[in-house]
Amino acid sequence: MEAQPRLYADDLAMCVLCGGCKAVCPTYDEELSESMGARGRVRLIRELNAGRLRPSEELNERLFSCILCGACSGACPLGVHIPEAICKGRGMLSGSDKKRKHVRSLLKIATRWPDPAFRAIRMAKHIVLPFLFRHGMIPFVPELPDAPFRRSEQVLRVNRRRGRVAVFTGCSVNYVFPHFGESLLNVLRRFGYEVILPKGETCCGAPLRNLGLEKEAADRALKNYRVFSRLKVDAILSLCPTCTHSLRIDYPRLIGKGLDRAMDISVFFADILDKTSSIMKSAVYHDPCHLRYNLSVRQEPRDIIKRAGLDLLSADDSGCCGFGGPFSLSFKDLSVSLRKRQAERLSNSGADVVVTSCPGCILQLGQEITDRPVLHLIELIEEAYCLRTEQPSLLVV
Ligand code: SF4
Ligand code: SF4
Repeated sequence: MEAQPRLYADDLAMCVLCGGCKAVCPTYDEELSESMGARGRVRLIRELNAGRLRPSEELNERLFSCILCGACSGACPLGVHIPEAICKGRGMLSGSDKKRKHVRSLLKIATRWPDPAFRAIRMAKHIVLPFLFRHGMIPFVPELPDAPFRRSEQVLRVNRRRGRVAVFTGCSVNYVFPHFGESLLNVLRRFGYEVILPKGETCCGAPLRNLGLEKEAADRALKNYRVFSRLKVDAILSLCPTCTHSLRIDYPRLIGKGLDRAMDISVFFADILDKTSSIMKSAVYHDPCHLRYNLSVRQEPRDIIKRAGLDLLSADDSGCCGFGGPFSLSFKDLSVSLRKRQAERLSNSGADVVVTSCPGCILQLGQEITDRPVLHLIELIEEAYCLRTEQPSLLVV
């Protein structure tokens, strides 16, 4: 039987305020203010929990300024799960948080009826997207595809079947980067995997939880659990580490059961891809926070890049891209500052191409790095194993 996650109140009680978490917190590093760092936030939630602090605008700002990157938890000698406590704290504050009220309303609607919401936005994109951007409800105006990636239930069969996997598409791939999804299907099928895209997938719940909407996040979690837990598959693959983290780690906290077959594509492909040498370029890898800190996946994507024949260079001390979903809306300056720092570290490596595993990081870093490609790992795999037939190379800007 799997160990049950500890309750966040027990975690808060354990904290001895040593400050180990503060040392690795990217927002503390930028602001150098105790209440804008991990230890300060833990203390604030403890006071809020005990009724010694009341909800206020200032308290909201401190708790919502966390990126939920997870760097702090790994640094805590007592294993306090700080992002979990912060999500709970946000839940307690959400009623008093006027600044993000409209984003919350929009998100509740968009995650309940995602396809109609996408179609409505798509139809009036020249009006709606600039409006949402002007009113701080999206961090930038994205390019939208003509249609979502997932349209209906699909089972993609192969001739000589090596295995069977399900794909958890996630909203960013479904509505912003459908070509990442196409690349994943292409690679899986070429390597002999039957793929199922089940009917009924919905938002993983992370953006809702991020805003303190625990009840709504649990509702989406339960829907996804019902859809994916009944499938007879070897793995549930996602191209977004935030989705994978939700399915595996957050669902047991939200609904008492998780999808433990959910995994990042780099873990799945680690033993499947042979060595090839089709690409004579250098690359640098950007670690998405949820993959690195919360799912402890660091080596697998790097091994794949090397096996794909690229020269893997290292960047000075890998950092956060500063996206963090709603964080980039509420704390624009801080988000841009983190983004610039990380883009500079990656660019200074001198690599021909930047590779990462998260659509959010690609959106964020792609605004800063324009002189070389910023690719998802699945695009690199598709190109390196010569599976992109008759399409231009992705390795030139
Ligand atoms: S590292 Fe852990 S014990 Fe130390 S202040 Fe942070 S949460 Fe508390
Ligand atoms: S999750 Fe990240 S930003 Fe938030 S307190 Fe922890 S280290 Fe700081």
